[in-house]
Amino acid sequence: MANAKIIIIGGGPGGYVAAIRAAQLGADVTVIEEDKIGGTCLNRGCIPTKAILASVQTLALFERADQLGIEVEKVVPNFSRMMERKNKIVSQLRGGIDYLLKANKVKVIKGRANFLNSHSICIETEAGRKELEGEKIIIASGSKPILLPFLDSNHPAVLTSEQALELKEVPESLLIIGAGVIGCEFASIFNPLGTKITMIEMMEQILPTEDKRVAQTMERIFKKRGINIFTSTKLEEITEYREDGITAKLDKGEKIEAEKILICVGRSPRINNMGLENLSLKTDQKGTILVNEKMETTQQGIYAIGDVVGGYLLAHVASEEGIIAAENATKLTSEIDYTSVPSCIFTSPEIGTVGLTPDKAEEKGIEVRIARFPFTACGKAHAIGETDGFVQLIVRESDHRILGGQIVGLHAADLVHEIALAIRWGLTAEQLSSTIHAHPTLSEAIMEAARKAEKKPIHLI
Ligand code: FAD
Repeated sequence: MANAKIIIIGGGPGGYVAAIRAAQLGADVTVIEEDKIGGTCLNRGCIPTKAILASVQTLALFERADQLGIEVEKVVPNFSRMMERKNKIVSQLRGGIDYLLKANKVKVIKGRANFLNSHSICIETEAGRKELEGEKIIIASGSKPILLPFLDSNHPAVLTSEQALELKEVPESLLIIGAGVIGCEFASIFNPLGTKITMIEMMEQILPTEDKRVAQTMERIFKKRGINIFTSTKLEEITEYREDGITAKLDKGEKIEAEKILICVGRSPRINNMGLENLSLKTDQKGTILVNEKMETTQQGIYAIGDVVGGYLLAHVASEEGIIAAENATKLTSEIDYTSVPSCIFTSPEIGTVGLTPDKAEEKGIEVRIARFPFTACGKAHAIGETDGFVQLIVRESDHRILGGQIVGLHAADLVHEIALAIRWGLTAEQLSSTIHAHPTLSEAIMEAARKAEKKPIHLI
């Protein structure tokens, strides 16, 4: 179907990527965005956190420059300049997306979209209301932070990730509720800046969805850096709100005072005030829109992608789902494949995981061998002074195919893609280990882990 009229609600990494792909396939595309193009990822998520992390990692590097034979007299972090740099990067990248949308002849309307029926949308813009008809509609409205109902979220000490990214000053102390991905990334941002951090996690381990060994390694590193961690612990109440902070009571009785409290307990689909009641599409109890592998909702002609469909709450997954929806909404037939989704955590050091963990393999009844190679046995890791962490491969016993991998270490978020590629294309440990890896590189640790899986390690006993 050429020149299909497609409306996309939301201009985040799901929506804008879907728009470009649909336009490439000849559709007449309009994106409706009520806030800023780029969505959570660009404006309040992936990019701003990584921009600030780059500054604090540079600071951390200067602080251990001595170990690399460099005497640095004084290192002075300038938080407002870090934030200025972050804002500049975000607006530059936003300009890039605007340009790409224009170049692909995608129309963008700034306003809030509301369904009138399955192909009519009412848009509330600054200039008033207007209506738009589309043959196909893609919902890419994203997610929002979950708040704790017993907290006064209007108090200036109470922050979500969005407000934490707009702080003007480094807090002296920070209580982080929830030691998942976002909580751990903020701990990695503020710890090198001198903030006294306490993290509380109600599950048994920090990073509850990650492999035990990954979580234990990260917890050890965090503790070594002075971060106070309580697992299997809940925030019971805030006993005092003061001008300069709060006092929190934990369920085990401890009292913690902090200048700020950051709530990182998860995100919920953004479906409110969108007129979904005028449609017959199905959601689950949390409001997640139900879709099939073509990203079709239960209502014909309406697709949904990204955080609003739950599963992986990751920008690259939203984008891939956007491509699949755009292809199905135009003239192709495509299905999403989640078997090799890399999931990266930008702590210091980074974490990169993909495919099955040892526990997941066991749950599925798949017999596997687990091969681990520590960075302490990697020459390059010593040369650059970054020996924390390991590579772990999960290899199916029956045919030696690689089913999963976890990396903790410098550049883990980049390194993990070699394992993702192996999983996606069904490579065996033998195929991976017989691929010559350059020396000295951190990638050699992946090759060595594959050799270990084949019971022929060189640099390990
Ligand atoms: P969003 O990016 O949330 O975009 C949805 C857009 O829809 C928004 O711009 C919103 O304004 C608009 N919208 C909603 N309703 C309407 C309406 N009715 N009318 C018009 N417009 C509407 N993911 C990673 O992969 N890597 C990371 O490093 C990473 N870091 C993160 C760090 C933080 C602090 C956070 C909060 C998230 C992070 N994420 C990361 C997750 C990532 O940001 C999301 O998975 C991704 O943005 C989801 O994309 P999306 O397009 O589904 O939704």
